[in-house]
Amino acid sequence: MAKGEMKYSDFVEVYEELYATTKRLEKETILAGFLKKLAKEGEPEWIYLLRGKVTPDYDDRILGLSDKLAMKAIGKTFGIKDEEIAKRYRKIGDIGELAEEFAGRKRQTSLFARKLTVEKVFSNLRKVMEVEGKGAVTGKTALISELLGNASGKEAKYIVRMLVGQLRVGVADATLREAIAEALFPEEKQEMGKKLEVAYDMANDFAIVFEAASKGKKELDKIDIVVGRPMNVMLPVKVTEIGEAFRICGKPAAIEHKYDGFRVVINKIGNDVKLFTRRLENVTNQFPDVVQTIKKFIKAKEVILDSEVVGYEPKTKRQRPFEAISQRIKRKYDIEKLEKELPVEVNVFDIIYHNGESLMQKPFSERRKVLEKIIPYEKWKIRLSMQIVTDSEEVALKFYNEALKAGEEGIMIKNLNAGYQQGRRVGYIVKMKPAANDLDFVITGAEYGSGKRGGMLTSYIVACREGEKYLEVGKVSSGLKELEQEGGTTYEEMTALLKPLIESEKGKVVKVKPKIIVSVTYQNIQGSPSYDSGFAMRFPRITNYRPDYHLKDIATLDDIKMEVEKAKKGMSHLG
Ligand code: ATP
Repeated sequence: MAKGEMKYSDFVEVYEELYATTKRLEKETILAGFLKKLAKEGEPEWIYLLRGKVTPDYDDRILGLSDKLAMKAIGKTFGIKDEEIAKRYRKIGDIGELAEEFAGRKRQTSLFARKLTVEKVFSNLRKVMEVEGKGAVTGKTALISELLGNASGKEAKYIVRMLVGQLRVGVADATLREAIAEALFPEEKQEMGKKLEVAYDMANDFAIVFEAASKGKKELDKIDIVVGRPMNVMLPVKVTEIGEAFRICGKPAAIEHKYDGFRVVINKIGNDVKLFTRRLENVTNQFPDVVQTIKKFIKAKEVILDSEVVGYEPKTKRQRPFEAISQRIKRKYDIEKLEKELPVEVNVFDIIYHNGESLMQKPFSERRKVLEKIIPYEKWKIRLSMQIVTDSEEVALKFYNEALKAGEEGIMIKNLNAGYQQGRRVGYIVKMKPAANDLDFVITGAEYGSGKRGGMLTSYIVACREGEKYLEVGKVSSGLKELEQEGGTTYEEMTALLKPLIESEKGKVVKVKPKIIVSVTYQNIQGSPSYDSGFAMRFPRITNYRPDYHLKDIATLDDIKMEVEKAKKGMSHLG
């Protein structure tokens, strides 16, 4: 086979194999075999297709077509009336299988269809994503029809699944990384797996990592942080007492307030400022005030800063809870108005890049020195995070209590000698805050309210994560009323967020694609047959909508088991 001529059916074969197993190791082996072939194609971007994407992970554009539009395209391709499509869809219940059925029928009659190449599929899908504005629907439909018209049944199934953003072959980023290691470095799989993880955290782009790895270890080492592109941040582990914090971080350690705001990674190249969340979303447009502050007060030419952006009441200057500022993240219009109603202050706590040099490997104490030089104190606009350095538990606890009195969430304890390591792996930073029974879950279902809240989804089924599956842990119907009163997420907003994600409806109950993440407090968790996790929360209440969280951040089944164990031992969150 000539280079670049790979057939889409090769991908489909792999999808089918991946779909047939839930075992991670088996998936790795399947992928590794395929990646060896793919590495020879010289088209590293095609690797995105294995995760149902046509862009790197840091790119926040998605395919995510509605089922309705996908049905339209299927109908148009095969000349079938809307009603018939809708009828079959109700019967089959899966848009991919619907496409498979119609494409399969057609193949028997038209034997002259061309074989689909990966290149064609990739480039059309990318165009589908990019077409915008007037005539977008027609443009998208034509691109899709061109693919479906030449696709076999199985090919059509996966093309359509990809289009609606539900490939469902379950390839987590870790699985793909391990598979690259197995395919390209079978002798040193473990060591290279770690290297690939570091490289991936910096690039957030499988094409870059895969291409470098195909060329060898040295190329992989060259992958570095790039100013202006989103990156994964360093995350803390949790402790409940100060001794443990020092054991993890060493003595002396730096201790800072844990601000209750919103994590923003600030990128500046000359006069160009970009802001990203920890979920790699670009929020530059939502925070023109922060952009202005950075342009005005940061003299360095090129920097990447890690910060917590905190909202405050314009009159009283009282700090607002995270939920209030999350309004600003979501808002795409009336930004100026919101900027005045909800001003923010940037608390800078780390630096990753400075004037042409990556500081990732430098100890935190040195990074802090650079920060002290370049971050001015501009009240209500920008400041360095409050910090002390101590080896005394007593001093640390005093600082902790003061932080709580000042209305902060708690403290962060940081290893002074450690580099900036992305992810939650190492425990270079640690958080300590008063315990609360609080976990983050994803909404997988909802129920319509009645009376005044008739058209709105007002109670929510929430789920934890087990590998790539989502298991229900309860139904939450309280919390949003309080949030509304505090200026947070309203029932209407939650309904608007969930409606496009609806997958099926039965009476008042809907199932939704797992996407919307919420923090939930509860009294306790008990074993229960009512939900498929085997556990249920008592008295759950939503405390926050977390648009800044990623699905991988939510509570896992193991987290829940741990909570249950802790509660049994009577040491659950007495703090
Ligand atoms: P939870 O509410 O479940 O504890 P969280 O939103 O506080 O979650 P964590 O990962 O537990 O998130 O805590 C780390 C977060 O704390 C960081 O992502 C950052 O947004 C925030 N933070 C506030 N102040 C600091 C600080 N001084 N240094 C580092 N992170 C800080």
